[in-house]
Amino acid sequence: ADGGAEAILAGLDEEQRSAAAAVQGPVCILAGAGTGKTRTITHRIAYGVHTGVYVPEQVLAVTFTARAAGELRGRLSALGVGGVQARTFHAAAMRQLRYFAPRVLGGPMPELVENKLRVVAAAASRSRLTTDRASLRDLASEIEWAKTTLATPEDYPARAAAAQREVPFDAATVAAVYAGYESAKQRDGALDFEDLLLVTAYALEEHRDVAREVRGQYRHFVVDEYQDVNPLQQRLLDAWLGGRAEICVVGDPNQTIYSFTGADPDHLLGFADRYPDAEVVKLERDYRSTPQVVALANKLIGQAPRRKGLPGLRLLGQRTPGAEPRFVEHPDEPAEAAAVAAACRALVDGGLPASEIAVLFRINAQSQVYEAALTDVGVPYVLKGGERFFERPEVRDAVQLLRGAAAGGNEPGALVPSVRDVLAATGWVEHRPPPGGAARDRWQSLAALVDLAVDMVSEEPALDLAGFVAHLAERANAQHAPTVQGVTLASMHAAKGLEWDAVFVVGLVDGVLPIAQSHSRPDAVEEERRLLYVAVTRAREQLTLSWSLARAPGGRRTRPRSRFLDGLAPDGAARPRTTPTKRPPVVLDGAAGERFERLRAWRAQTAATASVPAYVVFSDATLQAIAETRPSTLQELSGLPGIGSRKLDMY
Ligand code: ATP
Ligand code: MG
Repeated sequence: ADGGAEAILAGLDEEQRSAAAAVQGPVCILAGAGTGKTRTITHRIAYGVHTGVYVPEQVLAVTFTARAAGELRGRLSALGVGGVQARTFHAAAMRQLRYFAPRVLGGPMPELVENKLRVVAAAASRSRLTTDRASLRDLASEIEWAKTTLATPEDYPARAAAAQREVPFDAATVAAVYAGYESAKQRDGALDFEDLLLVTAYALEEHRDVAREVRGQYRHFVVDEYQDVNPLQQRLLDAWLGGRAEICVVGDPNQTIYSFTGADPDHLLGFADRYPDAEVVKLERDYRSTPQVVALANKLIGQAPRRKGLPGLRLLGQRTPGAEPRFVEHPDEPAEAAAVAAACRALVDGGLPASEIAVLFRINAQSQVYEAALTDVGVPYVLKGGERFFERPEVRDAVQLLRGAAAGGNEPGALVPSVRDVLAATGWVEHRPPPGGAARDRWQSLAALVDLAVDMVSEEPALDLAGFVAHLAERANAQHAPTVQGVTLASMHAAKGLEWDAVFVVGLVDGVLPIAQSHSRPDAVEEERRLLYVAVTRAREQLTLSWSLARAPGGRRTRPRSRFLDGLAPDGAARPRTTPTKRPPVVLDGAAGERFERLRAWRAQTAATASVPAYVVFSDATLQAIAETRPSTLQELSGLPGIGSRKLDMY
């Protein structure tokens, strides 16, 4: 080991170091948010390179978003390491498949499906199904779920029933549309995103020479956010590994937020069973957030029913104390957005860069009002995740034009002026952003393309238009717009793995989080709780959680705040004054005293399954009342195995 290698380990704590120094063989880091999982894998790769164990080009690090991949590359180059492949699953597969397509598919790389909904619509109409756009989306995401969980159209009905999928169509209909969709793609010789992974895995499984080459090229594998890997991605990973065990995975089961689209945290939880000689490391120290934020995160996840086989992953705050998280109730959404925008303005005026602030929401439709409010106070923002950047009509058109220009011949040397020229032909004026609204969105999308070109040229000075267009196609696999400076507006899903000094988690209304469609299914509600856990753990210093009682000004103030805030937010004035909508009883219902007796009996019956979350039947108010009037009963309850003792502990 050279001095550089030792310096790399010096930036880690003891547990992180043991994972980073284990550069060979299977390694699994199972730990909560902000404990340095991503930091550990970058240092591990750097350590492996510095000690000469890894050839950088033979390391493939996969993550779930292009931005995360970019961050990995950035952090690696800061550690003096270049050449490591850090990509999303899709980008890695695309690259390999493009190279092997002639051998495997007997021709050049097929086109990607440009408009998936159109193909689904055609398949639906062939099945004599008349549908609106929302139903088409449902069908498309159901097909996506089937493909990521490796279910064929024939498998679909049984698999959907087993997974208790809730779709507004019967399973046979979905299966028929799925089959029609697949054959339409085949006829056109096009691939969708799932096919990219599937065909790449197939190429490795079925073509020995391809497998030999790819496996010779990539010898060490690293997967970040492994809790959200789906069976299709796992299959590709297995194909890459080809039986080898040179793999390091890191993840947090409490951050599983894609299980309803096919992700399966059992891959993470079962890693040690699959590789009995794996080095398994647990991290507990949270380096990201103030102890106040950490306490809130612990409380939130502590209120979730225990999952069997899940290790306790409590976080221990390491940073010096900061401000208490704030909980704020607003009369309506525009008022909430105005308050958040004013707070952003104040932070920026106080010297915090706008890029250190994020506003996180559950559904993308919520972004609109925040965009307007930030525009009003003159704070720049970046819209992330959400509606896919490359699916925006203006971006699609621009990419089409760029592709046309690239095909029309390449002017050698570089790139940025040609991109500007092409965009100018659409009427886009670089230095004249429209004041707001949809026109501003469109302007920003195109500006983002130019920024991206500038970024890429700084990485690859010789890049030409054709190369840029190829990169755009790769980027289109990721859901993220290129970065510019500004307050980040992002869905909670898109915020995974990232961090900001100040975070506003907004729109915390029951029905939005947990989202209404999840209310009838306890496991779906739990996924929503994890989503909030992801959101709050993005904050380094300042965390504000807010909700509004009405949607529009003057509207009826009937929206209850998110149930997840019970026990976190102070009660009283901050509570909605209106009656909350009735929540579905999870286990038992009836009068409090009666519930109590039934709970005791039920508990005795089900003593074997200790993980059943019984406490959910009690509201805070009920628990409070029990604590005051029947403390001995409360004690008895706390002593029963499997009852949510943490919740009870609070009283
Ligand atoms: P998430 O689950 O949200 O992805 P993570 O476990 O990947 O979180 P990181 O992003 O790697 O966490 O680390 C969180 C923050 O803590 C980063 O800013 C990182 O640089 C910092 N950090 C992690 N470990 C250490 C350490 N040993 N010393 C100093 N800072 C650290
Ligand atoms: Mg991380």
